[in-house]
This record gives sequence, structure tokens and C-alpha cells, in this order.
Amino acid sequence: METFLVDQNGYYGEFGGSYIPEILHKCVEELQNTYLEVMHSESFRKEYEQLLRDYAGRPSPLYPAKRLSGKYGCKIYLKREDLNHTGSHKINNTIGQILLARRMGKKRIIAETGAGQHGVATATVCALMDMECIVYMGKTDVERQHVNVEKMKMLGATVIPVTSGNMTLKDATNEAIRDWCCHPADTFYIIGSTVGPHPYPDMVSKLQSVISEEIRKQLMEQEGREHPDYLIACVGGGSNAAGTIYHYIDDMRVQIVLAEAGGKGIETGMTAATIKLGQIGIIHGARTYVIQNEDGQIEEPYSISAGLDYPGIGPMHANLAARERATVFPINDDEAIAAAYELTQLEGIIPALESAHAIGVLKKLGFKPTDIVVLTVSGRGDKDIETYLNLRSDD
Ligand SMILES: *Cc1c(COP(=O)(O)O)cnc(C)c1O
Repeated sequence: METFLVDQNGYYGEFGGSYIPEILHKCVEELQNTYLEVMHSESFRKEYEQLLRDYAGRPSPLYPAKRLSGKYGCKIYLKREDLNHTGSHKINNTIGQILLARRMGKKRIIAETGAGQHGVATATVCALMDMECIVYMGKTDVERQHVNVEKMKMLGATVIPVTSGNMTLKDATNEAIRDWCCHPADTFYIIGSTVGPHPYPDMVSKLQSVISEEIRKQLMEQEGREHPDYLIACVGGGSNAAGTIYHYIDDMRVQIVLAEAGGKGIETGMTAATIKLGQIGIIHGARTYVIQNEDGQIEEPYSISAGLDYPGIGPMHANLAARERATVFPINDDEAIAAAYELTQLEGIIPALESAHAIGVLKKLGFKPTDIVVLTVSGRGDKDIETYLNLRSDD
């Protein structure tokens, strides 16, 4: 049967692979040869599952959102990743990767972060496991997400502001890769999304697949069936979406709908709508869609949401879009803000700006009353309150 999961060489169709500098070959190969064995081992599974339950607070609820459902004329369930420890789905991945790092004997942890959620989730597990933690973060993001920077420092991490390029996520990732090249033997790079060279996209989607594993059980309990008609998630690099769809990816009864950041509009040049506008290129070790100019130079992306402000996209999602397995909508800043207010007013849930893009998709689809929709709320809005309030007072 045709599958949309990764193949043996680390490809999703023509996307993915491992395009890295010579100096990283040995450590990436070591990871490729180790990750599945470790992740399938009894001792890893036990420790991972116990931490997800007792430390992160899983399973996260699958909440039937009555008033939102009423508004859109179908049955909408929200997968509440916002209720996890540290406020988003990122903790599922960092717990898994730090357990792997320890089993591989690594001493030093590095990470990149955009909105700061991955930085906080990494600093958190480093505190938990007593490991050194260095987080690269664009200077622009350091300024717009200063509370997360303070949290990382309190957790004992060193935050290094990056001043190249736009000073956002892409630049932070470049800097983390540079660090990794200098310390390949003792350093584990905890990547925060389904991006980077193989095996990261597969490893991160497997660590996030606890989301769809839970959805299956929870839908069975609440609806008497395992599959929804629609799965909806936002995509930055693609990890919360990968986790949401993982166990349904080859089940054609389920429609997959993804929201990417339209920014100020895909025709304005101020956008991060990679799937709509990108062309095939190489970014951060993977072959995928990249927003680039005619010379192949990566263009500076823009989104109001720091977590979606990335000029690439995970290879899994590039392939889903290319093969029309997923429908992708760019959601603009103003649509995301309106959606955040809508969810807050109807359900009393203030979503992260990233997650608000997923809510914004509801308006673009026409539902039947019998449709069952599962939408992942990837994170909570605490970090975005200033943005929400400033925009409202500007109106
Ligand atoms: C990081 C983040 C995202 C975007 O990352 P993905 O890997 O695409 O999931 C989305 N929502 C929240 C709350 C985030 O913190």
C-alpha cells in the first residue's frame, strides 16, 4: 500500500533526506542508526510514557466545543495541547529527545527557538535531567517574546541572541547548526519541529504521534468510532500537525487540512506561506519547499506569529501538499487574530497565535452537520496577550 510516512532513506516522496556538511556526517549517521532502536526499547518507552503522564500531564483532553460547533454547523473537538506543562505540544518532543540524548551519552544540549516555546520546553527538560542547555534565539524574537526568555534563564539555560538576517527562527537555526558543527561529538541538537536532516522529521513526528494515538482512543470513547472526517492543525515546521495526523495519514476517510501563516497576505511579500509560495530547495539539511528568490536565496519570512515565521516546511507536509493528500490554507494575521477572539469568546480558551491560524481555517470549509472535526489547539495564548491587546486597541 502507498504510504505517506517516511521511507527507508529518510524521504517523503521527493522531499526530505539529509543534506549536511561533511563534519556532521558521523553524528547524524549515529543518530540515524540509533533512534529507532532506542525509541522502541522497553526502558525508553517506560520512561517516556511515565514522564508524559506524570510530568507533562497527558493525555491531553479531547474537548467537544459546543458553541464553536454550533457556529460552524458540525461537531468540533479540540485537542487540548495548550494544557500540557509549558503550554504547548513542544514538551512531547523535548522529553523524548532528551531521553535519547542521555542514552547516547551526550553531555550538552543545544536548541533553536522562535516564539520561545521550544526553548522553554528544552530548558525545562534540561533542568529536569540536570544537563547543560544553550538556546539560540533571533534578537527580534528575544524582544517580542521576553517572558519566555526570562523563563529559560530561570530554568538555567543560556540564551544566545542571534543578530544575523531577520533575527528570527531561520537565523537561530543557522546558528544552532554552526554550534553543532563545532561540537559534534558531545552535543545533542534538540530540533523543535519536523524539520532538519533525516532522522529529525521522522523522529519528531513519532514523538508527537502520541497526539493522534490519544485522539483515536478518545474519539472511540466519545463517538464510538476511531476516525474523524477532518483533522485540522497549523503548520510552522509541522510538528503539531504531524502528531495530529500520524495514525491517520494513510486513512483516506480522513481529510487533512493545514493552516500556514499568510502574514499580511501571500501577494504582499510579507508572508510565511511556504507551501503556497515555496519552491523546492534545501533548507537546514532537508530538501523541501523554501520561500526563495530567482537566485535561490532564501527570502525573509514574515508572520505575526513567531512560531510560524519560517521560510521552510517539514518534508512530510511538503509531500502531503504536493500529492494533494492535505489541503493547505494560508491564514493571514488579521484572520488569525479574529479567530483567537472568536475561540476566546465562544469557549473561554485563549489560544496561542499559531493555534489561532488553525481556528481561522474553519471559515474556509463547508461542513455537513454529521461531520466530526478534530482541531488541535497547539498552545495557550499567555505569551501572546500583549499582541492581542495591542491589536485590539489599535482598531
Ligand atoms: C512552535 C509552535 C507551533 C509551530 O510549530 P510546529 O512544529 O509546526 O507545530 C505551533 N503552535 C505552537 C503553540 C508552537 O509553540
